[in-house]
Amino acid sequence: MQEKIVIVGAGVAGVNAATKLVDNNYKGKITIIDMGLDPYNRPLSDVMRGFLGAGGWSDGKLTYHTSIGGQLSKYCGEEKAMSLFDQVIANFKRFHPNPSEVQCSDPQAEPDFIKPHFGLRLFPVWHVGTDYLHEIGKNWYNFLVDNGVEFIWETKVTDIDFDNQLVSLGVVDEIKYDKLIFGVGKSGIDFGKQLAEKYELPTEPKSVQIGVRFEAPQHHFQKLIDVSYDFKLYQKFEDKGVSLRSFCTNNNAAYVAVEDTYGNHSYNGHAKKDESYRNDMTNFGILMEIKGIDKPFDWSREAVQKLQINNTGTFFSPSKRVPSKTSEGEYVKCVVVDSMDPLYDALGDYALHIEDFIEDMKKVFPTLGSDWGIYMPEVKYLSPEPLVNYDDLSLTRFPNVYFVGDALSARGITVSGAQGTYVAESIL
Ligand SMILES: Cc1cc2nc3c(=O)[nH]c(=O)nc-3n(C[C@H](O)[C@H](O)[C@H](O)COP(=O)(O)OP(=O)(O)OC[C@H]3O[C@@H](n4cnc5c(N)ncnc54)[C@H](O)[C@@H]3O)c2cc1C
Repeated sequence: MQEKIVIVGAGVAGVNAATKLVDNNYKGKITIIDMGLDPYNRPLSDVMRGFLGAGGWSDGKLTYHTSIGGQLSKYCGEEKAMSLFDQVIANFKRFHPNPSEVQCSDPQAEPDFIKPHFGLRLFPVWHVGTDYLHEIGKNWYNFLVDNGVEFIWETKVTDIDFDNQLVSLGVVDEIKYDKLIFGVGKSGIDFGKQLAEKYELPTEPKSVQIGVRFEAPQHHFQKLIDVSYDFKLYQKFEDKGVSLRSFCTNNNAAYVAVEDTYGNHSYNGHAKKDESYRNDMTNFGILMEIKGIDKPFDWSREAVQKLQINNTGTFFSPSKRVPSKTSEGEYVKCVVVDSMDPLYDALGDYALHIEDFIEDMKKVFPTLGSDWGIYMPEVKYLSPEPLVNYDDLSLTRFPNVYFVGDALSARGITVSGAQGTYVAESIL
């Protein structure tokens, strides 16, 4: 009988897994279920759900280093990880209408002017460009459909019975699987948590990842952008178990995006390539990793809730800059506050590290002054990371169930796609 693989989530991880299977003439049946829409019908504004998932649809910066974007080399080693990244990047180029447009920035040395306040993480990044992602999505989708992959859209998986190998779609429908790839990303984080609790899955310890999305006119940062487009400044306070990094930098045509998780707002950013979108702004997350917090997930949830006013995130600018507009021309949803106090209410003394980070940026980028704003919060909810077999990412207690992408330990496109590819290789 034909083996049946069900992939929950048509995000970067699920799509790369399916592609690897198809490329290798996998003989079983592949079904992908997603609560979002296919690339022809998916609205631009739906940044989290649908074909190519979150950043694969709305940003497309492909980092190329094992220290960025979550865990991969811990499972498969450095060399294998890099070869898996190559496959993900090759897929983005393969379905790109104009692959020569995909450019790589590869900074080689830390510039002196950021020292001693910051270190700079040096790693290559491939830039696909948001505008092309939608064309890539369509080409990629056509390829999978033409090769027999079945897609079920606008369908939320509500439960999975690991013992009887059944995926529940609402109350009545069920699908049987032989192997299940679970790649629900950030938008399905509560679902992953629900399953982890239901099956009492053993988990790996995690840290808190929280901060703000910082925004300012680009010219203040140009000197560093010339060295590294997607610069990653970092600071470490090992004695306090805290480290900070600038994260996911967007320039030229840089937009802030609202993420809706658990009914709360948090912020992220993306960049457009088309000149018509140019706004000469820069935005990036200032993300703080805090180790040793008991129940990091609950702690983060509570902090995020404290930064909401009327179910909307908050914005502060010392020079009373107004929040910017989205690429669709509407103001970024947020409530303007007149101090950083809400951040202190939410994070306690940890907020001081973020304020200091900004103060240090003012020293390193002398024109910055108070010409900036912060959207609060930016958060990476790290779902409890289930313990998996490192050689194939299957659950230690259910070897035919594989966790991939942000639902496991990824935080970026390349790592998520690579985890999907790794699982597909093991199935093959
Ligand atoms: C705005 C934004 C910009 C980003 N930019 C970048 C970037 O430039 N570079 C980078 O490396 N990373 C970026 N990221 C992070 C990156 O997108 C994620 O790490 C990556 O997409 C995770 O891949 P995934 O396949 O695990 O999940 P996702 O890509 O999030 O896909 C998960 C899919 O599962 C579906 N789903 C969830 N729950 C269910 C359910 N119960 N039933 C059915 N379907 C379900 C969702 O609809 C979604 O399509 C960005 C994230 C966001 C939100």
